[in-house]
Amino acid sequence: MRLYRLMRKPPWFLSVSTWIRKDDNPIKAGTEARNPKNIILLEAQYGSLSTKLKMILPLAKMFKSILVNMRKSAKSIIHNPKIGKRRISLKDLEGLEKIAKENGVSTLGYTKVNPNHIFKNFEILYDNAIMLTMEMDKNLMAKGEGQESMNEIMRTYDGLGRVVNIMADYLRSKGYNCHASPAFGGDINTVPTAQDAGLGCIGKNGILISPEFGPSLRLAAVFVDIENLPFSKENEHEWITDFCESCNLCVKNCPAQAIYTKPTYNDQGGRVFIDPLKCIDPFSKGCSMCVTSCVFTSGKYDKIKSVYEQKNERASH
Ligand code: SF4
Ligand code: SF4
Repeated sequence: MRLYRLMRKPPWFLSVSTWIRKDDNPIKAGTEARNPKNIILLEAQYGSLSTKLKMILPLAKMFKSILVNMRKSAKSIIHNPKIGKRRISLKDLEGLEKIAKENGVSTLGYTKVNPNHIFKNFEILYDNAIMLTMEMDKNLMAKGEGQESMNEIMRTYDGLGRVVNIMADYLRSKGYNCHASPAFGGDINTVPTAQDAGLGCIGKNGILISPEFGPSLRLAAVFVDIENLPFSKENEHEWITDFCESCNLCVKNCPAQAIYTKPTYNDQGGRVFIDPLKCIDPFSKGCSMCVTSCVFTSGKYDKIKSVYEQKNERASH
């Protein structure tokens, strides 16, 4: 039995569905939605017991904090004003972005949630998303498999779990409805949703590549029914998809050969380059070669784009 196939939803005490009220009108997953990948069960299935204990025990305090904040995110929807304000003032929006940044958020973007990006059997209260990135320290990630990169991965899970609740408290105090969705145990596939919010483009490594720090980041969301957010209209980073076609650095550097040069298609017909089952054992030990080997982790987005454009220009003549 594949353990990771057992859990399709968070347990009831961590699930937003437990606190949704009769007159709420949650948005359900679309027909092409996929199942979430439960990291804890994936790790339980793969890797040796001694490795798991060695990696996970020092992180027990952070795990506890992550779970406490997951519960708060789900349960705190009962504090929504219900007849919340549908239009946000510039002052409140600037205040929200300010507290997000003061609490570790690197960048923010706004988009409507595609229902197919809500995980199967999950629901969200509102479908306007404030998408958040939090940078992972590339020097710590470059240490490779081991405790330091694992600590950094968990720090960002924990940090985003905290900040979505801080933002939700702020929004409710100003009279807005919201649903905080943490990075760990979240309700949607944050990678394509962050792409829709214009925060970057999905790379061959399956991670959002941002212009600021490449794929060295983690994502979370806050859902609202505010209608006048500055929604992203176009994504200026889509050229990265074509760039990845000829780059393949992450493919060459993956120790588990878990990233393919050519795409495969998942059960829902989605285009993917990663085999998560090959990845999970090295990932559970802190592998992040697909982050550290990516050319965009250097932070030289503008230079890479300029070289790419010049090359295309020459090829067209
Ligand atoms: S985490 Fe490691 S094993 Fe998994 S895809 Fe990235 S490089 Fe490959
Ligand atoms: S290493 Fe290259 S192919 Fe892989 S995600 Fe980064 S840019 Fe794309």
